[in-house]
Amino acid sequence: MAGRLENRKALVTGGSRGIGGAIAIAFAAEGADVAFCHDDDPEGAAAVASAIRSHGRQAFAFQCDVSEDDAVRRFWAESERMLGPIDILVNNAGIGPEQPFETIDLAAFDHMINVNLRAVFHFAKLATPAMRMRGWGRIINIASQLAYKGANGLSHYCAAKAGVIGLTRALAIELAESGILVNAIAPGMVETRLSEGLTEDWKARKLNELPIHRFGTPSEIAPTAVLLASSDGDFYVGQTLSPNGGDVFL
Ligand code: NDP
Repeated sequence: MAGRLENRKALVTGGSRGIGGAIAIAFAAEGADVAFCHDDDPEGAAAVASAIRSHGRQAFAFQCDVSEDDAVRRFWAESERMLGPIDILVNNAGIGPEQPFETIDLAAFDHMINVNLRAVFHFAKLATPAMRMRGWGRIINIASQLAYKGANGLSHYCAAKAGVIGLTRALAIELAESGILVNAIAPGMVETRLSEGLTEDWKARKLNELPIHRFGTPSEIAPTAVLLASSDGDFYVGQTLSPNGGDVFL
């Protein structure tokens, strides 16, 4: 039986582990070929590439810091050279170091914005010309529920993620007519390397408060990306979907 993404070409930023890795593998399981990048995780990248290939699909892993403009342009061009025009872009790469507001200097703020928001804009700019020409494209941006909730020690992160949601809505309005559907996913707490730094105390309190009393896994976020990338998601425009275990209701 054909997969829901049969022969689609997808590009995932930050695909070497965690949520991006799970999305890249889920896309391959549905028939897509995938290019993805990481900043400095060659082992994770090799594991994800091999999982993609085990589904009989092409995988290309690149080192690319998404905050470096030239590297981003090279990654994009190389991915198109290997795969052909990209049908589905997933802006997933992100960082989330906790830091009290008073100690975040402007350079740290800029870096957060560059990785978590500016890169989303940059990749979307690279993706749209060919998608527009073909009259079909999907852009999926990974935001966070913290865009809505705010969080201690994450003012820069929350600002960037709220920006991702705003950008998603604006692009969705501007691009839908060209057949390019732009949506976001705002996951709740998912156990990945990004969330490793949280204290046991914090985790215990959070588990107690969550209606589902457990954290999510990357493979519980990936199906939402498959939905938005496939024809099942054809009526979603500018939405932010919230797989979050009931942490926040919108
Ligand atoms: P992980 O830390 O597990 O994975 C992050 C991925 O992004 C890795 O592949 C990492 O590669 C890559 N990455 C990070 N910085 C860069 C960079 N500058 N350039 C290129 N690649 C980069 O994180 P998650 O899977 O948890 O997070 C994925 C996304 O989901 C992020 O946008 C995050 O904000 C969001 N999210 C996560 C939640 C959670 O609870 N985990 C909740 C809500 C949203 P490398 O190691 O090489 O840098």
